[in-house]
Amino acid sequence: MPDARSSCNASPPEPATAELAPAPPAPASAMAPAPVPASAPAGPAEAGPPSLDFIRSIVVDDSRTGKHGGRVVTRFPPEPNGYLHIGHAKAICLDFGVAAEYGGRCHLRFDDTNPSKEDVEYTESIIEDVRWLGFDWGEHLYHASDYFERLYQFAIELIERGRAYICDLTPEEVRRFRGTLTEPGLDSPYRDRSVEENLDLFRRMRAGEFPDGSRTLRAKIDMASPNLNMRDPVLYRLMRVAHQRTGDSWCIYPMYDYAHPLSDAVERITHSICTLEFEAHRPLYDWCIENVTLDCHPQQIEFARLNLSYTVMSKRKLLQLVQQGHVRGWDDPRMPTLAGLRRRGVTPEAIRSFCERIGVAKRDSIVDVQMLEDAVRDDLNVRAPRVMCVLRPLKVVIDNYPDGQVEEFDVPYYPDDPPRMGYRKVPFSKEIYLERDDFVEEPPKKFFRLAPGREVRLRQAYLITCQSVVKDPQTGEVVEVHCTYDPATRGGMPPDGRKVKGTLHWLSTAHALPVEVRLYDRLFTVENPLGEKQDFLALLNPRSLETLAGSRIEPSVAGVAPPACFQFERQGYFAVDPDSSAGKLIFNRIVALRDSWSKIAAKGEQGQ
Ligand code: ATP
Ligand code: MG
Repeated sequence: MPDARSSCNASPPEPATAELAPAPPAPASAMAPAPVPASAPAGPAEAGPPSLDFIRSIVVDDSRTGKHGGRVVTRFPPEPNGYLHIGHAKAICLDFGVAAEYGGRCHLRFDDTNPSKEDVEYTESIIEDVRWLGFDWGEHLYHASDYFERLYQFAIELIERGRAYICDLTPEEVRRFRGTLTEPGLDSPYRDRSVEENLDLFRRMRAGEFPDGSRTLRAKIDMASPNLNMRDPVLYRLMRVAHQRTGDSWCIYPMYDYAHPLSDAVERITHSICTLEFEAHRPLYDWCIENVTLDCHPQQIEFARLNLSYTVMSKRKLLQLVQQGHVRGWDDPRMPTLAGLRRRGVTPEAIRSFCERIGVAKRDSIVDVQMLEDAVRDDLNVRAPRVMCVLRPLKVVIDNYPDGQVEEFDVPYYPDDPPRMGYRKVPFSKEIYLERDDFVEEPPKKFFRLAPGREVRLRQAYLITCQSVVKDPQTGEVVEVHCTYDPATRGGMPPDGRKVKGTLHWLSTAHALPVEVRLYDRLFTVENPLGEKQDFLALLNPRSLETLAGSRIEPSVAGVAPPACFQFERQGYFAVDPDSSAGKLIFNRIVALRDSWSKIAAKGEQGQ
């Protein structure tokens, strides 16, 4: 076993207490022009004590037995080759959450070992997204590239100990020599090179004397190991690609399976939490640490990655969607990326709550996207002010309402008593818009909205009764509805107590603001787009985006900007899109309300 020497002295300092303070408050997402409460301060601790999953149980046991000297140090190790998605959020909540709960710290470390796929844009987005989620790494921001020189020295040490060699096989030959699950591999003909020759060749590799792909440094482990990862894995490859941080200083780059355990050990990580696909890599993880001089041995623990129905969670696939223009970018609100969810209007609190609800386990599964939608609704329900927006307007004229008269109703932003979010003024006049869906000429059973002869309530205003309709002579479509109102029902309450079942949202046509509303549906038509025979691109939902250009909204929202979000009454939750401007308001539907009528209608269809 290696002795304990320099590695830990040079490792990052022990935690200062400041970095363990709760995360800063997340941005208030509900900001209406009228006073509304800012969102509650966010922090991983706010949700109360989490139940002990198997990872937390390990951490608790280790603390009790004094393993790792009672320290808890975790890390979140993204590769900057794409934007973070909600699967990463699960890992982030776990890595940072465990550290915070057990008095430890969590590092943010970029695993930037493959410059050909990595980019500063991704690095910056990852930093933004982890912060946005509500987590803080204090001064512990690291990069695998910070350790390139040390990793190189560790490789020299492996060579000196006869544990690594320079191999001249081509990548294709390496693959052929590896064997299969049922057959052992073959030793490379270069396996028995002398230490001196290996040292010389490795130094010359670093010096750039050999072309890319011509040589590798390989671990000398066991070509007959039942674990393919242990069959002399490649540790270093020649690659003349400039690196975003080290520029052209290096033309050899370490492989992930080599750089990752050693970076963990150098940072004195205690619990290296990763996803299940790394389980078979654990022996190599341990081998790397045990065969160089390090006195710290982090424990790798694997958990099941998050899969979500109706979407894909691989950065490579998401990149394909972006590059081929199937979505508008990494932050397209249909994407499962944190940037996409943020743009859509989902709050960090909702994502953290979702991650808590799904828990941590060791068995792979696909989580129903409705669980995410439920978490989002529960979060927005308590923070989003209610306003009225008519998505598909139908003009309604109230024939007996005085021409030119305008009344203003004080409508509460939130249906509680007393209204904690206050009131806004909503103008009412003779001509209003109702939702096109809220009128039918021949109402089916249980349809309680407007229909000829039917009386309905306009939210907080009056009761109106439908008297007649005007149709487009060509298409027969109803283009205007004529109603009368009952002046005695001001505020929406009939003095005689008569029952009115439907309550509709409405807008005064003269006062309503035009608004573009973007309705999002699932990105794919099937639950598991990667589990089908067809290419996943063939399973994209052609109706994942519907843009309503002619919607109208109440004037109180004028001037809103992201990340403001609202409940549009009876529709769902909507957020201001960054494309929005004072001249052109644009909203994204975050999630629809649970819609009782569509459920009744769907049941009816099934029954037919
Ligand atoms: P992808 O497969 O999308 O490329 P990755 O695992 O290569 O993802 P990394 O940047 O290496 O992406 O991931 C950083 C961390 O996030 C790793 O510890 C990884 O295990 C974890 N992670 C990635 N995807 C998920 C997921 N779907 N669920 C939970 N954790 C994940
Ligand atoms: Mg990875």
